[in-house]
Amino acid sequence: MSKPSPVQLPPLGSHMSIAGGVSLAPGRAASVGCTALQVFVKNNNRWVGPATRPEEIKAFPEELKKAGISIKNVFAHTCYLINLGSPKPEVVEKSVAALKDELVRCGELGIPGLVLHPGAHLGTGREAGIAQIAELSQQIIDETPDVKTRILFETTAGQGTTIGHEFQDLSDIIKKVARASRVGVCLDTCHIFSAGYDIRTPDTYNATMKEFDRVVGLKKIKAFHLNDSKFDLGTRKDRHEHIGQGFIGEEAFRLLLTDPRFAKVPMCLETHKDDKTLEEDRMNLATLRRVCGVAESK
Ligand code: MN
Ligand code: MN
Ligand code: ZN
Repeated sequence: MSKPSPVQLPPLGSHMSIAGGVSLAPGRAASVGCTALQVFVKNNNRWVGPATRPEEIKAFPEELKKAGISIKNVFAHTCYLINLGSPKPEVVEKSVAALKDELVRCGELGIPGLVLHPGAHLGTGREAGIAQIAELSQQIIDETPDVKTRILFETTAGQGTTIGHEFQDLSDIIKKVARASRVGVCLDTCHIFSAGYDIRTPDTYNATMKEFDRVVGLKKIKAFHLNDSKFDLGTRKDRHEHIGQGFIGEEAFRLLLTDPRFAKVPMCLETHKDDKTLEEDRMNLATLRRVCGVAESK
């Protein structure tokens, strides 16, 4: 055991594969020293999937306990097909069904937050897109009254017609949803940076967080995605890079991880990796600890 560190880092983890069952993800996370975890709750490239097996629902909390990961620090990510902003009725219908299904799955597993890309309007315009996303979210929340899981709208890089690259987009969606306890935000460092919000120095980091607080409210942030960016500030490209090896750089991550306002907010990597060796997760988690001045724990 190393001696206790003066720096207390927030719950840190990574997106882990659920191959073989969701209950295998906590062990994978623990094997690289994670204290937070992101998972999919079904195949991320399919509209529908088989129900979560009862033995998986039973095993998940047990495996989290063994892994030393609190369920508070677990969040899920929706499948990539969902687009609540689509003008196509068949896509909307499938998106609503899929999001409802995934919220129910999260509820069964006790997962408190489900990260969702707000959507892309595909030409109908920002206002129409935001109105539809908010209305459908409200409907889905109303239709799942027994589920406590929040929809966490993710900040986006702003590729194409995607909504969520300006903090105001997220604010406008969240404020239209009546049940505040069922919505929140997941802030992705790569996405806000490529959307044009700088976080590389104390001054720019503080200005960006001040702006987020003014427009949305920092308390709405229930999860972070920790990704460096392969592209520069304002390029609106969504390409993740290993921590410290992209255009964002190490300092931004030090500022975020040592910000006392986020000390209890779970943060997960979504950087490229070998799902078998998890070597890159070890490397990125070690980088995060090192830049914060925390000695290796294992
Ligand atoms: Mn995402
Ligand atoms: Mn992300
Ligand atoms: Zn991304």
